Amino acid sequence: MPFSSAGQRATARPALDELPLRPELVGEKPYGAPQLDVPVCLNVNENPYPPSEQVISEIAAAVADAARSMNRYPERDALGLRGDLARYLGHGLTAEQIWAANGSNEVMLHVLLAFAGPKRRVLSFAPTYSMYPEYARDTHSEWCTIPRRDDFTIDPDAATQVVFETRPAVVLITSPNNPTGTAVSLATIRAICDVAPGVVVVDEAYYEFARSGTPSALELLPHYPRLAVSRTMSKAFAFAAGRLGYLAAAPAFIEALQIVRLPYHLSALTQAAGRVALAHAPEMLAKVDQLRQARDDLADWLASRGLQVAASDANFVLFGRFADRHMVWQALLDRGVLIRETGPQGWLRVSAGTPAEMQAFKAALAAVLEAGTVFENQRGKEIS
Ligand SMILES: *Cc1c(COP(=O)(O)O)cnc(C)c1O
Repeated sequence: MPFSSAGQRATARPALDELPLRPELVGEKPYGAPQLDVPVCLNVNENPYPPSEQVISEIAAAVADAARSMNRYPERDALGLRGDLARYLGHGLTAEQIWAANGSNEVMLHVLLAFAGPKRRVLSFAPTYSMYPEYARDTHSEWCTIPRRDDFTIDPDAATQVVFETRPAVVLITSPNNPTGTAVSLATIRAICDVAPGVVVVDEAYYEFARSGTPSALELLPHYPRLAVSRTMSKAFAFAAGRLGYLAAAPAFIEALQIVRLPYHLSALTQAAGRVALAHAPEMLAKVDQLRQARDDLADWLASRGLQVAASDANFVLFGRFADRHMVWQALLDRGVLIRETGPQGWLRVSAGTPAEMQAFKAALAAVLEAGTVFENQRGKEIS
């Protein structure tokens, strides 16, 4: 025996710092909001309403049908699903203009794999989605941001100047933005597209929650061949566990993404379940109006408590500002309400939920704000 049993154990279970990890990954933690078992989860912007029994049984039947050919690889190009997504989006789109993957997170990784990379810049507008810098890191791209204005809108003059000067390979515009909820006007997106030398992706993960009449960047696709618009079924569509995100762009843009995708990346089960959900789109989206109302009521209530609230077109609200936001987050958690500690220092983000969840959140936050000495000096408009 070449090794002692102790030696074998040491060899088989090395500590992470004993492995030859890429230097830029040393000390990095896997991304993810805490998944805690608490009564009220308002931390990851999910739709709080599960599908109906009818949709559940149709998904089960479609998945069973797909299981009959589980020995075969799935349809690699997912053309049926992409056709359904094109019909859902409208705007005259067809399957060849749609890309789909396991969440829009994977779609976005495909975009950076295809268009960013070493010696190329990825640019966005801070504060924004915390996953983007990780895709940049993982694709060896350079990550840079332009600060948003105090109200979290994008200054179109600053944006176009920096894009023109720094020549990013990819510009990511999140509209409505996460974690601020801010929608970006088409005029601003157009101005950026006019000067961007590379591709521009508008991440419309929360588009369905925008105030009615808010135009989609899909309208701009015919005018800008290097523009793409990404969406997800995780939020408004109440399909977060299904892992299905998608993007619309010119057919050549989709061809570029196909070069870098893993073979058979989208399982037959995902494709089958996604098609059932899309066939029931009106029902899956039925609670969106209610959630928009819950968001607006929540924003009004927070403002009525003397807090600062960012204007939101998404299904969440960013509010603050707290001298010690972690303490507030923890105090809410202690009362069974999980929200998100994210965004600029002093702010917290809460998702719109069911009436019962909103009631629980308000009761918990009211109690926290009123709780004795800890917060005594922290109330008022600028809680700092
Ligand atoms: C939630 C979210 C997504 C969606 O991610 P999925 O991978 O589709 O679940 C994409 N972009 C932003 C800005 C988000 O907040």
